[in-house]
Amino acid sequence: MTKLFGTNGVRGVVNQDMNSQLALQMGKAIGAVMPGTVAIATDTRYTCDMIRSAVSSGLMAVGCDVLYLGSIPTPALQYYVKTHQVSAGVMITASHNPPEFNGIKVIDSDGTEASADHEKQIEDKYDETIPLVAWEKTGSCREVAGAADDYVEAIISKLDVEAIRAAGLTVVLDCTNGASYYTSPLLLKKLGVRAITINGNPQGEFPGHPSEPTEDNLQDLMKMVRDTPEAVLGIAHDGDADRCVFVDGEGNYVPGDKTLAILSASIIRQNKGGVIVTPVATSSVIEDAVGEAGGSVIRTAVGSPKVARKMMDEGGVFGGEENGGLIFADHQFCRDGGMAIGRMLECILANGPLKDQVAALTPYYTVKKKIVCPDRLKEEVLKFLDKNTEGMEKDFTDGLKIQFDNGWVLARASGTEPIFRVYAESKDKAVAEELASKYESMAKVCISSM
Ligand code: MG
Repeated sequence: MTKLFGTNGVRGVVNQDMNSQLALQMGKAIGAVMPGTVAIATDTRYTCDMIRSAVSSGLMAVGCDVLYLGSIPTPALQYYVKTHQVSAGVMITASHNPPEFNGIKVIDSDGTEASADHEKQIEDKYDETIPLVAWEKTGSCREVAGAADDYVEAIISKLDVEAIRAAGLTVVLDCTNGASYYTSPLLLKKLGVRAITINGNPQGEFPGHPSEPTEDNLQDLMKMVRDTPEAVLGIAHDGDADRCVFVDGEGNYVPGDKTLAILSASIIRQNKGGVIVTPVATSSVIEDAVGEAGGSVIRTAVGSPKVARKMMDEGGVFGGEENGGLIFADHQFCRDGGMAIGRMLECILANGPLKDQVAALTPYYTVKKKIVCPDRLKEEVLKFLDKNTEGMEKDFTDGLKIQFDNGWVLARASGTEPIFRVYAESKDKAVAEELASKYESMAKVCISSM
């Protein structure tokens, strides 16, 4: 069977592994598994027209009608799918990957990322000769306007607009030349926030900086916030604007796990309790912040679809990942970069400057190690570590997590690369470093002995 889906849809370098033949066959396979009307949207990459046309052609060839929503954030497509009678959504994006990449992401009819079951069915179909419909049964494609505006309106409807307007805030916004170029400026305008926008042109080669919102890539945003004394916040998205990362009013980059902890505590307080969902790899700072606010935390395997589905099952009010993927149950069960802006503005108004909120968190030190490991040995490394940690407090939600009195270690295989990862965390920097080195060495010993 062809393995198409990674942790986040199907991705590759355009005209190499991601080409029009693949996109055409994917379109047919999606249409065969999820027949009906399919909504399609893209980020701002150069190659989106080519990939979208091929996917659309495949969908129509098996009898699906296609609605083209334009270049909008992934969560705007997901909101459209959730609120309209369509059988699926397809997003043409490679998220934060470099501009030569593109990808195809499938959305279920409820607006969440395609379930593992649907992905498996699409992969199975992909390898078959998919029957085409008679000429008079082929689908049509029509452009639909307004999905981006509807998405912004839906966010606004959840927020305390009067309070935000009354505060007269200034922020600096970095659209990364990606899919948020229209929605995030519009959202801030409607909230009465003065936004100084950089990299606001939709330009799929990402001329401003690479489309992953890391500290290295957001130096211009951080400088612009420092140079703007009245700015209370810097905001950045990735290429398809499902993720949102923040810079405090002094221009300091705020790591995603700290944002997650701060917003979790704020939402739990507002909600007077509740459940927060996050993967095993996120910092323990979240347990401290959520516990103090009166809520509880559930841990899942790594990957935002896992977090979203756990939130649905357990009634989680908020969840997310350390990379800026934040999921708000009262809006929709997917990462939502626009909603994150709204909730962060409310959080600053309710709880004070972001810098002070970050300073009030328990400090933790995280050390991450990457070990080259052939795919065939990944399982062996896990077994070896398990065998050599008998009697310890362990968790197998994703890989192997070992709990110590003064910290934890997580050892897990990468799902997409020949890499084994070891994370260690402690309040004591030396302990985190020692734990990471110890388990990195153990993994290396196992790999070299094979
Ligand atoms: Mg993304």
